[in-house]
Amino acid sequence: MSKWEKIEKYLNRIHQDKIKGQRYYMFGYQEQYKQMEAINLGYLPFYDGKDTKRDVEILPDIYKCNRPGIQKTCTKYICIHDTASGAPTATTKAHRNWLMSMATDPNNKNSVSWHFTVDENAVFQHLPTTEVAHHAGDGYREWGTTYHNNTYDKDCITGGNLNSVGIETCVNYGSDYTKTMRRTAKLVAELLLEFDLKLDAVKQHNDFSGKDCPMTMRHAGRWGEFLSLVDIEYIGKTEFKDVNFTWKSLTPEILDDKGNIVKHIDNAKVEYEVKVEYMEEEKTYRYVSYLEPIL
Ligand SMILES: [Zn+2]
Repeated sequence: MSKWEKIEKYLNRIHQDKIKGQRYYMFGYQEQYKQMEAINLGYLPFYDGKDTKRDVEILPDIYKCNRPGIQKTCTKYICIHDTASGAPTATTKAHRNWLMSMATDPNNKNSVSWHFTVDENAVFQHLPTTEVAHHAGDGYREWGTTYHNNTYDKDCITGGNLNSVGIETCVNYGSDYTKTMRRTAKLVAELLLEFDLKLDAVKQHNDFSGKDCPMTMRHAGRWGEFLSLVDIEYIGKTEFKDVNFTWKSLTPEILDDKGNIVKHIDNAKVEYEVKVEYMEEEKTYRYVSYLEPIL
């Protein structure tokens, strides 16, 4: 297959004739945010080749509680969570503040920690990715084996705390979790490359302990969709790193240049084009999609 044929195949994977939306629920631990109605207006996963912007603020390791300061022997997994915090204010920044308040409190006994928090607007990094964190509920078990988790009565894999990168996705009420998923997928693809891992290294917290996490993705049936997003980003960053994609909506009142549906109208027609540059050549492709009614 020629490079241009591969590019066209990739574009056809990103394109959908019918753009699907979905009503779903986000779940929080707070009583008033236990089950929050949410809507995915639909999108096309336009790949732009850009990396996520990471706000890095590493926790101090003075008290060694939520930053134990242990170097991992290796990184084998990316462990996906959601915060289960439904308050509208429970953003990346709020979680960064919470982790920081624990890390700087000499009396703190809570050792919970993870590497990244992602919301619809930002990515925060709290720990070096080469260090152990406490988020997966599998204790200090090295990767490569299984154990039975008694709390959830489930056979689980190991290496969640010791050999993974932990990512919390925010489910704060009013936020667009679809955007959070897309941003997280980008970050995960970058991490897969950094640690020389493949898509099968992307795991749910559930795999390591049996906990119902990431609950929102699991209950909405969106895990497969998330993995597909990671895959599209990964392929872009590997097979097409020498290719430039520039996306332009021709129906900007409905579809933006990032592929997000900004206004849903049942059965509306949207058009867009993508300019592709490879070596000295440039081609522009034009596509048409329709918005499926959201039930
Ligand atoms: Zn979790």
